[in-house]
Amino acid sequence: MAYKTNTERIWQQAPKCDCGKQDCNERNHRMCIRCNKKMLYGSHFSIEKLNNSEFAWNVDLIVPKSEGGNTKLNNLVAVHIKCNNSRNRKDGSNEY
Ligand SMILES: [Zn+2]
Ligand SMILES: [Zn+2]
Repeated sequence: MAYKTNTERIWQQAPKCDCGKQDCNERNHRMCIRCNKKMLYGSHFSIEKLNNSEFAWNVDLIVPKSEGGNTKLNNLVAVHIKCNNSRNRKDGSNEY
């Protein structure tokens, strides 16, 4: 089995997509748990993609740090950048 990065593991924890498009598979498409819409694996967070992809995603915490959440794998989830709660945190912290 090939080595998987944390990012890949987190991606694979997201719900499967069933849009039926030709490129729809577990590797390319997953669903955002916040808005239930499609994310593209290739649109993982990057500065260039941040502003021009509705499918762009990043890693967020299921239980926020302010509520005692940790950064272990089972508390991490792939969501759209626009759905990422951590971007709106009062302390401005942008870590996982
Ligand atoms: Zn799909
Ligand atoms: Zn979303």
